[in-house]
Amino acid sequence: MPVERSCGAVIFKDGKYLLLKYGWGHWGFVKGNIEKGESLEETFFREAEEEAGLKKENLKLIEGFKEKISYFYKKGGKTIYKEVIYLLAESNTFDVKLSHEHTAYEWLSYEDALERITYENDRNVLRKAHEFLRRTRKIG
Ligand code: ATP
Repeated sequence: MPVERSCGAVIFKDGKYLLLKYGWGHWGFVKGNIEKGESLEETFFREAEEEAGLKKENLKLIEGFKEKISYFYKKGGKTIYKEVIYLLAESNTFDVKLSHEHTAYEWLSYEDALERITYENDRNVLRKAHEFLRRTRKIG
């Protein structure tokens, strides 16, 4: 079975979380395929710029957070197994420039983001990220 591996991040600023609407119709986090020879961090910074126009200097990775989800989906009649690793990153700007892969974006509060995210596994990642930030930064 074909396997895909992606890396992304829960990106936040001032208590708001960034969500993208994918061309497929679902809402989720910034992420993308890990290319050969790339580290997780490199994939994340490349995707953040490609998908949201957020540059490395706009983003700070928060150490100590890494969550993996997996799912199956169908592409051209084939079932694909996919693993996605999410990191956690703080943005210094709300200024997002979407790529053609996405049709909308929003910065949402924790509660609104939980409602907007399409898939339960992604919602669980947000719950963990929010809890991590509360524990380590006393926010929310
Ligand atoms: P990437 O951003 O990694 O390049 P992509 O644009 O190729 O991703 P996905 O976001 O993985 O695609 O979406 C591919 C299919 O998987 C779509 O049908 C989508 O609805 C479904 N999907 C996306 N995220 C999840 C998830 N967290 N759990 C289950 N199915 C998902």
